[in-house]
Formats: sequence, C-alpha cells, structure tokens
Amino acid sequence: MTPMHFQEAGTDAAQVFAEMEEARQGDVDWRRGRLGAYVHFGGEDVLEVAKGAYLRFFSENALGQKAFPSLRKFETEVIAWAADLLHAPADAMGTLTSGGTESIFLAVKTARDLARVERPHVTRPEIVAPVSAHPAFDKAAHYLGMKVRRVPITADFRADVDAMKAAIGPDTVMIVGSAPAFPHGVFDPIADIAALARERDLWMHVDACVGGFLAPFAVRLGYPIPAFDFALDGVCSMSADLHKYGFTAKGASVVLFASEAWRPHLVFEFDNWPRGKYSAPTFGGSRPGGAIAAAWAVMRYLGVDGYVRIAKQIMAARDRMIEGIGAIDGLYLVGKPELAVLSYSSHELDMFAVAERLGDKGWFVSPMSEPPGIHLGMLTLAHVPIVDEYLVDLAVAVDIVRTGKLTAGSRDVSYGG
Ligand SMILES: *Cc1c(COP(=O)(O)O)cnc(C)c1O
Repeated sequence: MTPMHFQEAGTDAAQVFAEMEEARQGDVDWRRGRLGAYVHFGGEDVLEVAKGAYLRFFSENALGQKAFPSLRKFETEVIAWAADLLHAPADAMGTLTSGGTESIFLAVKTARDLARVERPHVTRPEIVAPVSAHPAFDKAAHYLGMKVRRVPITADFRADVDAMKAAIGPDTVMIVGSAPAFPHGVFDPIADIAALARERDLWMHVDACVGGFLAPFAVRLGYPIPAFDFALDGVCSMSADLHKYGFTAKGASVVLFASEAWRPHLVFEFDNWPRGKYSAPTFGGSRPGGAIAAAWAVMRYLGVDGYVRIAKQIMAARDRMIEGIGAIDGLYLVGKPELAVLSYSSHELDMFAVAERLGDKGWFVSPMSEPPGIHLGMLTLAHVPIVDEYLVDLAVAVDIVRTGKLTAGSRDVSYGG
C-alpha cells in the first residue's frame, strides 16, 4: 500500500510502474469488451497511431498558439475536417475542447453571451431541452447562471417538439436536440427542432457528442439516419466527441459554430493584470498538445474510408446484438436506436437482478432508471468479438432470474463517479 503521506524519498521508476500494474488489477478488462462505456476502441493500429502522436507532442501546450504553429495547424485542420463532415457553412468556426462537456459548455456560453447583446431584457436566460439531453447542459447552466427546462419525451423516447414549443418562454435563448441522446440511443427530431428554433429566433444546439463521428459513416453504409447536422437550416452549434467514435485520445472533442461572427462571444479575453493581454477560446488555459496531435493523426490515418470500415463492423455487431436481445424471451430493446448506443428492458423481469447475474459473469453492467433496464453503452470494436458470448450469458442471467424469481439487492443506476 502506498503511504498516504507524501514520501520524502523518491521511488525507483521500475517500482513505480510495478505498483501501477498492481493497482490496475481490479480494473474492468475493456479490451475483452467487458465494459460498454468510458472507452472507445477503434483497433490496435488506430491506438498505436494515437499513442505515437500523443507522445510526440506530450509536452507541448496549445495555450501557446504562437509558440507551436504545429498545434495550431493540427487544430485548424481537425476543425475544418469536422466542419466538412457535418456540413458546416463556409463561414463556420470552432475549437477543440477537452471533451463533450466542455464543448457543450462553450456552446451554452456563446449563446448566452450573444443573448446578452441581442436580448438585454433577459436576466436569467433559459435552455429548453428534452429530458434525455446530457447533464452537461445543466452543469453549464449551473456555472453560467442559467436555467434548463427539461421537457418530457415521446413514447418512442425522442424529443417532444410540441412540448418543447410549449416550454419556450420570454427568457428562453437556446433549444437543444441530441443526435443521438445517450440514455436510449435515439435521435431527436433535429429538423423539427431546428425549424422551431428558426420560427422563434432561438439558438439551436445539436449535441452530436456520440453521433458526430459515427452517424456520417453509418449514412455512407446506407443506414437510415435522419438529417441532424448543419445541413439543416437553424442549427447554430454542434458538439462532436473525437474521444468517442473519433477513436482518439481522451481529452478531445470539437464544438462548431455556424458563424465566425459569434467568435467574440466564445473567446475569453482579459487585460487587467501585469502580464498583458490573455486570450483563450476554451474553459481551460493550458491544453494538452498530445490530445490535439492524436486527434489530427487518427483522422489523417483513417480518412473517411477508415472510419467507414470501422463503422461497418460496429454497426454489424449492433445489428447482431439487437437481434439477439430481441430473441431472448422477456426482453425488449428500448426504442429504435439508429447507431450503437443500445439499452434493453423487460415488462416482466427485475432488470436489476438480471444486471447482477450478468455482473456475476464478469461483465461491467450499467443498469438504467427509465425504463428500468440495462444500458449497453456505446459499442466499439472491443465488442465485435464478444456479441455471442454476451448474448449467451444474458440468456442464462434472464433464465436464472425468471426461474429463481430473484430480485436485486442493489438499484444503483449511477453513471460516472
Ligand atoms: C458523452 C456525452 C457528452 C459528454 O461528453 P464528455 O466527453 O463525457 O464530457 C455529452 N452528450 C452526449 C450525448 C454524450 O454521449
């Protein structure tokens, strides 16, 4: 056990690494597909490219744009490629961030600061979002002195646009849709929400943290995905996570804005200290060069073809998973997910007990609250080889719960923490 007081003497590097290996013994084996969240695997080759790029730029800091034109180039190109992929207008701009939460934070902040100019009478600006939207909107609103009105979703788990319309009030400045939302993996009717935004002259954000780097490739494979990006008139900003289906290092997401004219509301500038003018487009100051370099390298390495190749395998695995879950008596798939975020439930079984029995088999299971069920998380290449094994274990778990009439000891549905 490492002493809890900070030791005076240093430790031999080999010993340090040995202790780290020991510390990870209890970690979930994501490489064997035991985990549905938190890690996104795009293949060993992709991982090697990401790591090589990250290590090359391990020490560089993207706060220093003038010192590191390399990082500026990488960031500019990643933003341009993402903008291209998501049909952003020629006048679009954006920034790389540390993740989806920061991308959403910056979109909310930009919308708020624009509203301060355009709607000076609004003192406590509001966001109208479907209840399925990510907590990052509430987190941002909490930090930014705003309020989120969460609106119920329809029976098919999509945003209820009429309900959203009814929730819009004099203080509403922003409305939100997810492509797809994390709980049930379904796309909100983004076209209808964008139309509503135009009608009411509101900022519309599309949260494509999950879908931004998967949906465009699923479209190319012929999967039916509704329009969800800047091709729709009225979309003002989008978040898309590179560290999810972009398969790059953690600490990389992109937030895009339809117009360069909004940049002053995005960037924070400050001059009232002895060091001179400070300027940053992100929440953080120092930014890891490695994360930016890895994002650039992986996108450059894969190209559209590479992403399509990976998406094809993931989508095939999710097709088999959907079919397999549907074939197990007593289970049903929640909604009609377009991509590879899946969840399933039951009208008759205690799903928390099923989750525990699956956990006994070594799967890291994520129970969810509404409907009570199991969230498979986001399928990636780590799950392609394990679909059959998972379905066999799931069928056994269901059988144990059904015949044993078991109920669960725990009903913990937490995500994160
Ligand atoms: C993951 C996710 C986020 C937040 O992204 P982080 O990278 O965890 O900060 C936001 N929205 C959706 C739909 C997500 O899946």
